[in-house]
Amino acid sequence: MEFDQFLHKIRTLTEKIFIPNEHLLEENNDVPESIMDEIKNSGLFAISIPVEYGGLDYNMEQQVLLTFEFTKASAVYRSRFSTTIGLCSQAILDFGTPKQKEMYLPGMAEGEIIGSFALTEPEAGSDAASIKTIAVKKNDFYILNGTKKYITNAPNADLFLVMARTDPKAKGSKGISSFLVDAKSEGIKVGKVPEMLGHRGSASPEVYFNNCKVNADSLLGDKEGGGLKPALRGINHARLHVAATCVGQAIRLIEESVKFSNSRIQFETPIAEMPAIQNMIADSYSEMLASKAMTLEAARKFDSGSIPETEIAAAKYFSSEMVSRVADRSLQIMGGAGYLEGNPITRLFRDTRLFRLYEGTSQIQQRNIARNIIKELE
Ligand SMILES: Cc1cc2nc3c(=O)[nH]c(=O)nc-3n(C[C@H](O)[C@H](O)[C@H](O)COP(=O)(O)OP(=O)(O)OC[C@H]3O[C@@H](n4cnc5c(N)ncnc54)[C@H](O)[C@@H]3O)c2cc1C
Repeated sequence: MEFDQFLHKIRTLTEKIFIPNEHLLEENNDVPESIMDEIKNSGLFAISIPVEYGGLDYNMEQQVLLTFEFTKASAVYRSRFSTTIGLCSQAILDFGTPKQKEMYLPGMAEGEIIGSFALTEPEAGSDAASIKTIAVKKNDFYILNGTKKYITNAPNADLFLVMARTDPKAKGSKGISSFLVDAKSEGIKVGKVPEMLGHRGSASPEVYFNNCKVNADSLLGDKEGGGLKPALRGINHARLHVAATCVGQAIRLIEESVKFSNSRIQFETPIAEMPAIQNMIADSYSEMLASKAMTLEAARKFDSGSIPETEIAAAKYFSSEMVSRVADRSLQIMGGAGYLEGNPITRLFRDTRLFRLYEGTSQIQQRNIARNIIKELE
């Protein structure tokens, strides 16, 4: 299918299915099965996977344009396929053996293999290189022990991409390797799904590996000690998708607040005609456009060669901070009604707060941007 046709299809899916059914996400605390089928059938799981593995092979600019569309709806829909299309499949694509690619990528492109990315631990968040989960080799097996935290889609996962320490003596990321672990393996327990401020309907529980025995060929690639490179490959992909998600969510927030401003009458005037309200709408729209431009620029650089880590960090940092400001203004425009549950702006206010925290907090993006720029200009 031509890209423009696919984009139109996803726009229609968002308008006709995703947005009208958003209330079901919180009511069911999950994405309904029938909508998961729509997502699978739409091809959204396939956008980042090459044609030879059954994917649609869209480039990053196209993936970003698609993300602007489907994230006008609740980001909970996105979270159900994001760990598969970004974090997991991209690491397999760049670091997996030919057998691992054949084994997992076609199923991921169809949405039949759900990938879940297991890096963070209770004591290792921003400092990912300090993870303690260990994988000990015994003959043709590895035995994994450790606890992972905030693992999105763990209850639905078919496959975990697990980062674990294979060389306990090596410092930092050097002793870390990545494993492709079948979620049905013995010794894996998924914890209770924690309640969250937002993204209700998405699950990010702890996952416990207790003497979990996996075949030696579960090691991603064929060598131990790949460090955090496979994880970062997925994370850079995901960071750009998060930046695009912030743009989609900001567009929706602006649409909702304009709709509200036109209908709310005070002092016998629609509040949309008041300069103070217009200033907030103008600031939100301008900042959204700036994010959109930054995200597209980073995506084009991604497509033209090596991964532009600084531009990606800047797009993720700016866009996640931008959407929080847009959400705050949108809520302000609603007055007291914005503080009551049951409307999209209040939900988006809660949902968008997450984007400054995961895939690297804003402080980690600032640190990465500054470090890279200082080095470049030395
Ligand atoms: C809903 C949700 C879903 C998630 N999904 C996943 C997932 O699927 N897989 C996964 O592996 N992880 C996942 N995460 C984990 C997420 O990536 C981490 O929460 C994030 O990296 C931050 O780590 P932390 O929460 O431990 O915070 P910490 O690292 O403890 O940070 C605490 C504070 O200190 C600041 N800080 C830390 N280090 C520095 C520094 N060097 N300089 C300046 N400030 C610093 C941080 O910015 C923050 O403000 C998810 C998290 C959430 C909330």
